Amino acid sequence: MDQRALFIIFGGTGDLAYRKLYPSLFRLYEKGYLKENFAVIGTARRPWSDDHFHEVVLNAIADDGRDVERTNTELARKFASHFYYQSHNVDDAEHYVNLKNLADKLDAKYELNGNRVYYLAMAPRFFGTISSHLKDQNLLTENGFNRLIIEKPFGRDYKTAKELNDSVSGSFAEDQIFRIDHYLGKEPIQSIAALRFGNQIISSLWNKEHIDNIQVTLAESLGVEERAGYYETAGALRDMVQNHIMQIVSLLTMEKPDVYDASHLRDKKVEALNNIQLYSVDEAKKNFVRGQYGEDANQTQASYRDEEGTDEHSQIDTFVAGKLISHNPTLEGVPVYVRTGKRLAKKTTQINVVFKNVDTDIFHNVEDNDAIGLQDNVLTIYIEPEMGYTLKLNTKYGNQGYNINPVHLRYRKTPEEKAKIPDAYERLIHDALRGDKTNFAHWHEVSRAWKLVDVIREAWDSEDANFPNYESGSMGPKDADELLTNDGRNWVFNPLK
Ligand code: NAD
Repeated sequence: MDQRALFIIFGGTGDLAYRKLYPSLFRLYEKGYLKENFAVIGTARRPWSDDHFHEVVLNAIADDGRDVERTNTELARKFASHFYYQSHNVDDAEHYVNLKNLADKLDAKYELNGNRVYYLAMAPRFFGTISSHLKDQNLLTENGFNRLIIEKPFGRDYKTAKELNDSVSGSFAEDQIFRIDHYLGKEPIQSIAALRFGNQIISSLWNKEHIDNIQVTLAESLGVEERAGYYETAGALRDMVQNHIMQIVSLLTMEKPDVYDASHLRDKKVEALNNIQLYSVDEAKKNFVRGQYGEDANQTQASYRDEEGTDEHSQIDTFVAGKLISHNPTLEGVPVYVRTGKRLAKKTTQINVVFKNVDTDIFHNVEDNDAIGLQDNVLTIYIEPEMGYTLKLNTKYGNQGYNINPVHLRYRKTPEEKAKIPDAYERLIHDALRGDKTNFAHWHEVSRAWKLVDVIREAWDSEDANFPNYESGSMGPKDADELLTNDGRNWVFNPLK
């Protein structure tokens, strides 16, 4: 069904709008989710004309890269004609009057029924100002919906996140605020609930009796690239763990919701995060490891401290590994090992669920040199770049003996299947248009995640790290391996083995 709405994009000349928002809106238009009853106002300080804005939007669609020819079509031109540019300084109350006039005009022209989506594609320090002006200058409509979409970083600790939240919640109610965590827009992340709760063989084993541990790896092979300025203020713990990793952990450890909808899912995710053990500073020191990349073994890649825009004595973490412990009843005491980092050996996002092995090995007396022996059953969920699953099972195969060796049941989405999957932003914008909050982060999730992470930060800030402590192209510092070997375990994903 097509949706009626006016989008007001703050930061309309920025990178996020260009790379993600305009191409996603176009895909929604191509697929008929947006038809004639929509309009977009792009705002930023620069004085652009509507014609120039249309050109930018068409270039953004072309650069999106799937098919440059798409922009030479009647459809693309019609799409771009729905875009209007308004030069606007977000601090200036007067400018909101102009914005309101244009918004009301477009509302009437496109018959939008007062439905408005305010997308803040700008630094979070502007969120409070923009939302209070939207309210005070009467941009919020009475007759339609008013939804606010905001981006990370949502604060840099619990205190600043709370201030930020308070600053927007003066104008928008929680059910009007859509906090984007783009991992929640990814197909394999959304599939976690289907896998866990849609399969008897999985759901009956997803508990502390059968799962030994869960491992979540978000590994990047690139370094900090052009983001040094931002990264120096953030680091991996804030940039990846507080949001994406905590969201994934909540989906993996939550109890079964009665119904798969936004409110039931949210309740279970909040409960799951509340039941992750909140460490003391000493426990955080023991259970979390930080790292910062140095050069690679051949000294062809610069260390983090030598990258442009970083401090030569930087204490910023480009790597985090840690152990979280769930106290949800089903998974009580099960460790969830998490790991993320830059300049690691291989780019992958994957989850490994390591099952407990059979109680007794009745095959131990079979002597055969080819036998590997019983291995842990592991279910691997591939998030990206591959999408799919692998299940490791013990079987007998091969020769006259009774040699036990593992096989891997493997499913991967084909390139053709992957090409059909909506991009995370396309999906999330569509959800926001429909008012579906299933794949957005609730304040209670964000705030609990900060509390879990703040203790780790506090532990680390109490002493200087001995950085750099891992080579580019490795899998992080050796302490990250010891975190598991000390528990008698190993990281399942190890491309260097
Ligand atoms: P950007 O710097 O490219 O764009 C910022 C925009 O804000 C520009 O359009 C600029 O003109 C506008 N702006 C700045 N000050 C203004 C003012 N006083 N009045 C009006 N407009 C003003 O930033 P970006 O990369 O597009 O990121 C925007 C937000 O989204 C940031 O919070 C960022 O952390 C977040 N984010 C970005 C990405 C991404 O892929 N770029 C991904 C995730 C989150």
